[in-house]
Amino acid sequence: MSDIDQLRNRVDEITLEMIRMLKKRTELAKELGRIKETIGRGVTDEAREENLRRKVLSVSDSLGLDGAISLRFLNFLLNESVKIQSADRPTHLSIFRKAKSLEENGKKIIHMEVGEPDFMPPKSVGQALGQAYQKGLVGYGQASGMVQFRQALANHNSERFGIKLSQNNILVSPGGRFSVFAAISTLLNYGDEIIVIEPAWPAYKECALYSGVKVRTVITTLEEKWEPSTDQIRGMINTNTKMIVLNYPNNPTGKILPRDIQDDIMKIAEENDLYVLSDEIYSDYAYSDWKSVLSYNYEKSVVVQSFSKSHAMTGFRIGYTMASEDIVGKMAGISALCLTSVAEPIQYSAMKALEADTSDSAKMVRRRLDVLVKRAQDMDLEFVKPDGAMYLYVKIDKEGFDGIQFADSLLEKGLAIAPGEGFGNYKSFMRISACQNENILKQGMDILSNGLSMLQ
Ligand code: PMP
Repeated sequence: MSDIDQLRNRVDEITLEMIRMLKKRTELAKELGRIKETIGRGVTDEAREENLRRKVLSVSDSLGLDGAISLRFLNFLLNESVKIQSADRPTHLSIFRKAKSLEENGKKIIHMEVGEPDFMPPKSVGQALGQAYQKGLVGYGQASGMVQFRQALANHNSERFGIKLSQNNILVSPGGRFSVFAAISTLLNYGDEIIVIEPAWPAYKECALYSGVKVRTVITTLEEKWEPSTDQIRGMINTNTKMIVLNYPNNPTGKILPRDIQDDIMKIAEENDLYVLSDEIYSDYAYSDWKSVLSYNYEKSVVVQSFSKSHAMTGFRIGYTMASEDIVGKMAGISALCLTSVAEPIQYSAMKALEADTSDSAKMVRRRLDVLVKRAQDMDLEFVKPDGAMYLYVKIDKEGFDGIQFADSLLEKGLAIAPGEGFGNYKSFMRISACQNENILKQGMDILSNGLSMLQ
């Protein structure tokens, strides 16, 4: 046998041995997942992962192996475990689906589990749909979006934030969700790491997991007013860390970060050359001092916007990303690949929506949040009063409380609210959405109060 054959045989043997070891590791991860679920533990445990990371680095060091490569390999293994362990975990959408199927069987349900405005988009949007047809806007278009629309978005945001954007800084998408997916899947590589501050909308984690990107979770607490520790963020950064995700006003807490904390995070990102993916889709529902990440003029910022919440256009599926030309160029590639282009009549309608005054919607949602806040106070629930968005994230301080079971029991009583666990390891929390009129919200809160009184 030639030297090359012998060496190849050895490589094959080692590879197959690694596969056998992977199988063993997967079985153990499954078993651990079952136990965690039984005892109500979250899937990821940052302290435990950090411990393993240190061991891996120490072994790599003693073997003379590049630590960064070992950590990327570890990230692959950790992600596989997370995938196995989170496969059947419920999110707020699982409750929505259950509620829908109960409704199909004739049950009346009050929907306070999803963030879907109950009002119509501006009137101009309806007219625009017909105009788009008359104008013949019915064809394929540019992957990054219609020039006229991108120009309008650039002007609108330049004026709003006192910055200079051109159409080349805009990438139109079929909703904020796709923008988030496009950013994570095109700007990052397999084994890279992103930092997500929890509680968080679950899609950041899910998109990362799908793309082989490892999520490092910064856990915030109600006691600390949902404010992250910048030291903790700093401590998480290594050579593989490439992005931090911000979402303020936040879903589910309604939090807006104090300015000094946001400034510090931006500084950390700049010092470490991280992308800042800022999901600002609730920015029209900001009820206290809020600053867009755009205003920092940071080259690696990627700001996501959507018409879903601001203009009640969830079903139109229309949003956009604002970033440097270079970033927009990279992200446009996946739009071309997956979508060809975003529907022209929808882009045209959103362009018309941009001209509408939506300040009344923001005032209305605020009044609704006030109703929820007042009722939650009457029920002695613990929460931080939301600074924005359309949700109240409440703690139900009862020994052994399980939000998923509780959400199920409320469904039986005709109310859908979301278990807090869909947004991180927050078993004793529930998210209540303010997307109904005040009367319905009050009825919903009555059902909640009744449900709470029946808890042991
Ligand atoms: N970001 C956040 C924080 C959200 O809550 C949602 C939807 N609930 C989205 C993005 C997705 O919005 P879109 O409808 O534009 O995809």
